[in-house]
Amino acid sequence: MAKQFKPETLCVQAGWTPKKGEPRVLPIYQSTTFKYDTSEQMARLFDLEDSGYFYTRLQNPTNDAVAAKIAALEGGVAAMLTSSGQAANFYAIFNICQAGDHFVCSSAIYGGTFNLFGVTMKKLGIDVTFVNPDASEEEISAAFQPNTKALFGETISNPSLEVLDIEKFARIAHSHGVPLIVDNTFPTPINCRPFEWGADIIVHSTTKYMDGHATSVGGCIVDSGNFDWTQNDKFPGLTTPDESYHGVVYTEQFGKVAYITKCTTQLMRDLGAVQSPHNAFLTNLGLESLPVRVRQHCANAQRIAEYLQGHEKIAWVKYCGLPGDRYYELAQKYLPNGSCGVVSFGVKGGRKAAEAFMGHLKTAAIETHVADARTCCLHPASSTHRQMTDAELQAAGVPADMVRLSCGLENAQDLIDDIAQALEAIR
Ligand code: PLP
Repeated sequence: MAKQFKPETLCVQAGWTPKKGEPRVLPIYQSTTFKYDTSEQMARLFDLEDSGYFYTRLQNPTNDAVAAKIAALEGGVAAMLTSSGQAANFYAIFNICQAGDHFVCSSAIYGGTFNLFGVTMKKLGIDVTFVNPDASEEEISAAFQPNTKALFGETISNPSLEVLDIEKFARIAHSHGVPLIVDNTFPTPINCRPFEWGADIIVHSTTKYMDGHATSVGGCIVDSGNFDWTQNDKFPGLTTPDESYHGVVYTEQFGKVAYITKCTTQLMRDLGAVQSPHNAFLTNLGLESLPVRVRQHCANAQRIAEYLQGHEKIAWVKYCGLPGDRYYELAQKYLPNGSCGVVSFGVKGGRKAAEAFMGHLKTAAIETHVADARTCCLHPASSTHRQMTDAELQAAGVPADMVRLSCGLENAQDLIDDIAQALEAIR
């Protein structure tokens, strides 16, 4: 699919282009394996001399069509699906870091990613330094070491809703000869395309807006094809022979798609966090309506944020679409058409009042999820972050009075009426 198409067209047309007599809708290739006539044909696939399907852990036509659609939406050269966003984040780093290596990461990221990077990957011998994303270029640069292999950040962080200065992060990463990896889950490529601002690799939890109907956990990694892995000796996994694939040198044999090819042929082969073709099919249905839904999520969130800001029982509101928000200017630059459907706010009266408010909601449900068509909310202090003290919560940017509201696709006035009656009911 040619790149000149606009996102709305790519969302419905890219990835699957049937020929005469083939199904109009992307089929679910619910098959673990694929048939060949001779062993010679199969051998050429194993030697990476031919492309073709042989086993779904490595590649599957349904998954590949959906990955191609996401690559087209982000403006990348190649993509791969993973079983979850967590798997995408792990692979994205592990593809270029091994024991003894280090990477730098914004501290404003999803809690699950924070744990993966700060605890689990440390056990594998890969070290991370978390930096305040709003710090100066000099301060962030000071975290780099000779063994640093990547810089990582989230376009809009979950749940703290901080907007990443992508150009600043790209400058820092490139001045140290490493790629910038950006988690673009919250804005989706409908609202931000980080490659246009200098990012090199993009990761997604497709579980969120891309699926959008809370049916399928999944992830995706997209390669811009722009990073030169041969510019220094930091990436031997890509630039020297891979003995597990008959000495292939990925940068020599695969050029601009070296990173994704290595990630598929090595990490998927060995670790197997593959997305089921059925989930890929459902994600594809979600992608078809992504632009329409994202616009409605954002319009609802904007109206609700404005309503909350003027309410006497609300202590504070965080939403980068509000003039006066700390990230309003950055959002105007990187997210001029809207940010996401998630708003966070504090209820006056602290932890007790926040819990009481949520208990009175009738339309918005209490869930550990965001980006669903149905509005949902979470009180992090009593759920995802319940092991922390109030002081620790404050320091982590998740204060005890905070409610995270993921605005769905319902009518905005109905949602406001629900919030109004729940606030009224707090005594
Ligand atoms: N990245 C972000 C920004 C997220 O919000 C999440 C989950 O909430 C993840 C990654 C992890 O994705 P998954 O739940 O699909 O593993």
